[in-house]
Amino acid sequence: MRAAQTAQKKGLTVALIESKQIGGVCLNIGCIPTKSLLYSTSILAIAKQAGHHGVSVTQADGSLDVLQNRQRSVVGTIRDSVERSLRESGIEIIKGAARFLSGNEIDAGHEKVCAKDVIIATGSSARRLEGFATDAHILYPDDIFNLSHVPDSLLIVGAGAIGCEFAGFFNAMGSRVTVLEIQETILPLLDLDLTKRLAISFRKKGIGIVTGAALEHIEREGEHIRVLYSTGSGDVFSDILVSAGRQPNTDLLHLEKAGVKIRDGGWVDVDSQYRTSADHIWAIGDCIGRRLVAHAAEREGEIVVGILCGEPESLDYSLIPEVVYTSPEVAAVGMKESGIDDIGTYGALKGRFGSVAKAHILNEVDGIFKIIYQKDSGTIVGAHMYGYGVSELISFFSLAIHKETTLKELKKIVFPHPTLSEAIHQAVGDIS
Ligand SMILES: Cc1cc2nc3c(=O)[nH]c(=O)nc-3n(C[C@H](O)[C@H](O)[C@H](O)COP(=O)(O)OP(=O)(O)OC[C@H]3O[C@@H](n4cnc5c(N)ncnc54)[C@H](O)[C@@H]3O)c2cc1C
Repeated sequence: MRAAQTAQKKGLTVALIESKQIGGVCLNIGCIPTKSLLYSTSILAIAKQAGHHGVSVTQADGSLDVLQNRQRSVVGTIRDSVERSLRESGIEIIKGAARFLSGNEIDAGHEKVCAKDVIIATGSSARRLEGFATDAHILYPDDIFNLSHVPDSLLIVGAGAIGCEFAGFFNAMGSRVTVLEIQETILPLLDLDLTKRLAISFRKKGIGIVTGAALEHIEREGEHIRVLYSTGSGDVFSDILVSAGRQPNTDLLHLEKAGVKIRDGGWVDVDSQYRTSADHIWAIGDCIGRRLVAHAAEREGEIVVGILCGEPESLDYSLIPEVVYTSPEVAAVGMKESGIDDIGTYGALKGRFGSVAKAHILNEVDGIFKIIYQKDSGTIVGAHMYGYGVSELISFFSLAIHKETTLKELKKIVFPHPTLSEAIHQAVGDIS
């Protein structure tokens, strides 16, 4: 969608083929509905703490139906507005499933489309559980937005960003939640110090965590599903939510007719400028399997359009922030401590959000961060945060890394008082 909008603004004639709903996974069954549901449970958490803030709330309950209606209304409003703006700008929207007939001809169901350049942005879908019997109570992320019951007990298979966000959501709604992760920690791709803190917070809320274990066996037992983990232990749950990776939506595209090569797993093979193996065919977003987040997909789209218009750019993936919208949130950008080969040349400056007044005003003192810098120059190369609202703070560090800002320069920045960002000032204030 972003590629289409950018191309149209640059004066290209654009047609957008969509088999389901405008806005893709992000708007319809991904980022937006999950964040709407999570925002609702954050209000519920505040309502439950209201007494602490001197406000009396007699009853704080969340009704799944009402939360779902709000999420649908948010999604619907945005989708209508986006669709209207696409049409008004002159982009032709073709509803249908696309498949290549040749390098520049596409069958979109009811019509054939010819284009000089084609951008493949067909996204990804939840990886299905293989080798287990199907069951109406084995759910995938897409199912959550039509769910009408709060599971009594829920096993979430996969503790990546999506699994952890749903763990927080269903815990807040009253389910007994357990997350199962094959790696040794939840959010295994993120900084260990942060993920340990999130694990502590999860456990305090009653979310069970089983790591270093895979799903071995599932068996229906009356109202429940009995689950056996690879470690030999097990449990019973009313529902299972599978959030164990994504697979590209490329199998129905007939890519071979266009000469577009795929890698193992079906991901479209592209070079650093998103060129596929076929001339004039490009691929961006989840279907290329680089960074499966909406903001990366959008930027990749802008870059391809720039190339088409003779304005080439490249994308530094290390500057793409990662955010997990749990409570507290986790956010990261740039170099990780664990990714550094020569630890001697880098340092990690650590701080706590609980050290500033705003954290106490908000009653959100559980928060830490780490700024990774080069020891000789003091240049900031990474930032990792766990705490309230860090999704909004992380972009500051994307810019700092992009501009090769040093800790000394950061020290000169005046942060508004009282804010959580003052904790950053406090941490750099200690350096000489
Ligand atoms: C539950 C969940 C929560 C998420 N939360 C976040 C978040 O908070 N932040 C974030 O950055 N990312 C998040 N993501 C990831 C984000 O949604 C994806 O990275 C993003 O949507 C990828 O965009 P895309 O354009 O590549 O593909 P998609 O958004 O998947 O769009 C692809 C579109 O192509 C259509 N399509 C597929 N095949 C065809 C065909 N043959 N013909 C025509 N149309 C076709 C599909 O119907 C779809 O509409 C989340 C994902 C999930 C599942």
